[in-house]
Amino acid sequence: MSEQYEVLAVRYGTRQATAAEIFLNYHAYREPDRPLGMDYFFWVARNPARTVVIDTGFSPAGGAARGRTMLMDTVPALRAAGTAPDEVAQVVLTHAHYDHVGGLPVFAGTDAEVIMTREEYEFWTGPMGRRGQFAHTTEASELDQLRRLRAAGRLTLAGPSHTVAPGIALTQVGGHTPGQAVVTVAAAGGPVVLASDAVHYYEELERDRPFSTVADLAGMYAAFDQIREMAEGGARVVAGHDPLVAERFGHPADAPGVISISRD
Ligand SMILES: [Zn+2]
Repeated sequence: MSEQYEVLAVRYGTRQATAAEIFLNYHAYREPDRPLGMDYFFWVARNPARTVVIDTGFSPAGGAARGRTMLMDTVPALRAAGTAPDEVAQVVLTHAHYDHVGGLPVFAGTDAEVIMTREEYEFWTGPMGRRGQFAHTTEASELDQLRRLRAAGRLTLAGPSHTVAPGIALTQVGGHTPGQAVVTVAAAGGPVVLASDAVHYYEELERDRPFSTVADLAGMYAAFDQIREMAEGGARVVAGHDPLVAERFGHPADAPGVISISRD
C-alpha cells in the first residue's frame, strides 16, 4: 500500500469580493451580484517520512499591492501547521500566480526540492507571460526567483503527470494558467485532491461556472470535468480559495487558521 499523509489547509489570507469579480462573465447568469469572501490557502501533507508543502502563499508586498489581508506570513503559517521551512522536503507549486509562489524565499536557504510543471515555468518565463492581462497576476521578482532556483538545479520541471513522493502526485490540468496543476495526496479514507486554482470555489464545479482569471476557457471546463471524475472515483476535492473549505472539513480542535482535511 502506498504511503498516506495527514493533509492540512492553512488559511493565511483573506479578502472581501463579489460574485461579479469572482466568476467569468457573471452577468450571463442573470443573477444579482452578491458579496463573496475569498480565502487564501496553502497546504501541507506530512507523515513520519516527509513533509511536503503545496504552494507558499503571497508575500507581504504582493498581497499589499492588491489590497489583500495577510493573516499569517509564511513562516508563522508553517509554524501554525506544526512545521518549519527546514523540515520541508519538497515544495510543489501548482502555478506561478503571486498568491501561490510569494512565500518561496523562506525556502531559499533549505534543501527543499521545488517542483512545478514545465509548461507553467516556460509560459511565465517567456514573452507571453509579460503581457498585461497575464503579468498583473504575478510579481516579476518572484518569477526571477524561479529562474534562479532553476539555474541552481533546485527546481524540477514536471511533465503532465509526476510522482512527487510515494502517495503524492501532480497532475497538470491547465485552464486557469497554461500549466496549472492539481495535487492528489493519499490519505486515510481515500485520496484528497488539492485543486488549488483549478477550482477556486465549489460553485465552479457544482454549477459549472468558470473563474474570472483564465488562460484557456475550454481548458478550464475540461479541468472541471477531470476533477469531477476524480471526485466520482472517491476523492475529496479541496477548493483553492473557498471559505466553504472550513465548513466542509473544519474540526473544532483545529489550530486557528489551520483546517485538518485528513488526519492520517
Ligand atoms: Zn491563480
